[in-house]
Amino acid sequence: MIAQSQSQDELRDLYRELILDHARSPRHFGKLDGATHSAEGINPLCGDKLKIYFSIDADGRISDAKFEGSGCAISVASASLLTDTIIGLKTEAALNFFSAVISRLSGRSEDGEQPFSKVDLGKLIALEGVKEFPSRVKCATLAWHALNSAIRNESDTVSTE
Ligand code: ZN
Repeated sequence: MIAQSQSQDELRDLYRELILDHARSPRHFGKLDGATHSAEGINPLCGDKLKIYFSIDADGRISDAKFEGSGCAISVASASLLTDTIIGLKTEAALNFFSAVISRLSGRSEDGEQPFSKVDLGKLIALEGVKEFPSRVKCATLAWHALNSAIRNESDTVSTE
């Protein structure tokens, strides 16, 4: 039992390092020229304000993604991990990641009938650490709500409030 808790602590440290690394050196940061889809996410509680851009080709594949704006370490790291993860995916696959991330972070039990329950979150699992800090869950999910809104062309701006 002791060994198990130690390895969980180590895993948590690794995840924390991954989040800090993406917060300090965000991947795909900046404006995307020629973007076909974009949405802005605002989290007034924390002051996070991020805009995400996507280039989606005629086959529905996300050929590129970038984000800009400012926010706390968790919101920036989450947006960085998001862009890293979804570039090259079809939009349906990206939306499955959205559903899987929201489901994991909101603590809702996964429904085995849903396609997203089979999604391998990979390094996105690092985001799950914020569940210990409920007020930060909105920081971690902000970029994902913007992704969902941009792909579905619902609205230019999503707000957590
Ligand atoms: Zn935040």
